[in-house]
Amino acid sequence: MDIGGTSVRAGVVDRHGNVLDTARAPTPAGEAALEDAIVSAVTGLLGGRHRVTGVGLAVAGFVTTDRRSVMFAPHLAWRDAPVADRIAKRVGLPVVLEHDANAAVVGEHRFGAARGAGVALLVAIGTGIGGGLLLNGELFRGAHGVAPELGHLRLVPGGRACPCGKQGCWERYCSGTALSTTAIELLARHRGRPTLLLRDSEDARAITGRKVAAAAREGDQLAQRAMSELARWLGEGLALAADIYDPEVVVIAGGVSESAPLFLDDARDHYKKMITGAGYRPLARIRTAQLGDDAALVGAAALAADNA
Ligand SMILES: [Zn+2]
Repeated sequence: MDIGGTSVRAGVVDRHGNVLDTARAPTPAGEAALEDAIVSAVTGLLGGRHRVTGVGLAVAGFVTTDRRSVMFAPHLAWRDAPVADRIAKRVGLPVVLEHDANAAVVGEHRFGAARGAGVALLVAIGTGIGGGLLLNGELFRGAHGVAPELGHLRLVPGGRACPCGKQGCWERYCSGTALSTTAIELLARHRGRPTLLLRDSEDARAITGRKVAAAAREGDQLAQRAMSELARWLGEGLALAADIYDPEVVVIAGGVSESAPLFLDDARDHYKKMITGAGYRPLARIRTAQLGDDAALVGAAALAADNA
């Protein structure tokens, strides 16, 4: 299962990473309701049609190193919650928890864009940025289960305020949210310039990352500038991450990766310029996710199969 801030998605996944059957529900606000939704999705999918051996839960939040509890999840009700044992008791199957970006990098490593890579970094760009890292084929969670938290690296001292309390975090410049912020800033600076960004509404606050991508695709100049800003920050952030981890493959995942043709080549150029020792070291291959939306789901299932 992939448990995010907006929806709870469940899928029956076979040993080859194929998703055979799926279910989806909006994420309930309360803790009990959230666990009820998970249990009913699992029991609904079981229904005698599939022989399921375990459940993997990919969660948008911090998971303890023993993968039994959620410590903190900004968009979910759980706080220090022993989720794995509670769900296992109710569904009668072994349950393993994992951070969603960690699950996604496992999915991409087993069945997708990072297959065969010794050191693989996944950067999921959506509302914010999530990171997952495999070192020598094994998930690297850090000492306390929270690594790598890439989205809140401070790229711009004194930059845009972040809900985390800091300023200038990477995800404030490189995410769907960032696309909208940049577009709104550009509009304010170039008042009166014709743009597709305001075609649905004169209110700039209605501009979403998705609308920016659509307008850029249609050749809108302001939208394309917002895209090239995102590309620049993506390249800079990846260069920083690559200086630390020296990955063989970087997988770009998340909703924004669907617009990769609009920014990825540009981001690779910035990456090459910003990395230390450019021209004298092998560079990571930067690729988009192959499993798309299903990466975390499939990765969670693979971890559940390992655990079962
Ligand atoms: Zn932050």
